[in-house]
Amino acid sequence: MTNKRDNFSNPGYTVDSPPPYTPSSSSQGATESTRVYTDAPKNSYSAIPTPVYTPPSQQTQSSPETVVLTAAIPLNNLRAEPAVTTCPHCNHVVLSSTDFRAGSATWLSSFALFLFGITSWGCCLFPFCISDLKDCIHSCPNCGRIMAKYSRLDGKVYKYLGDQFE
Ligand SMILES: [Zn+2]
Repeated sequence: MTNKRDNFSNPGYTVDSPPPYTPSSSSQGATESTRVYTDAPKNSYSAIPTPVYTPPSQQTQSSPETVVLTAAIPLNNLRAEPAVTTCPHCNHVVLSSTDFRAGSATWLSSFALFLFGITSWGCCLFPFCISDLKDCIHSCPNCGRIMAKYSRLDGKVYKYLGDQFE
């Protein structure tokens, strides 16, 4: 039993391992070859990044912003200021002319002041002098007809169809 173990371990490991791995010249050659491979791919990958494509994309994004300024907006997007829109009566793209009229918000704010007792000197009539509390009427400068009304109370736009706001 003990003789078989000695015979198996001694000749096998001592004979095979020393001859191929001991030479120093072959190990140096292996390290030099690995250095050459590690340096080469770094140079090739560093040259790949391409920042050239970003400038043209930014130039294309800046141009449509100027186009939006001249585009007509739908009547539903009107606010309390003149805006370029399409007249539903004459179908012309016009800059709407605005006119402020007393609306629901004007009457409610006046009634609120009246409830607080601010009735002396006619203070409850101040809301009728403040344009921010009045409804904005958009009319067409081309045909002179009313196009829509922007309500201060609910922030909605009511189109003027026929003779009523709908
Ligand atoms: Zn018109």
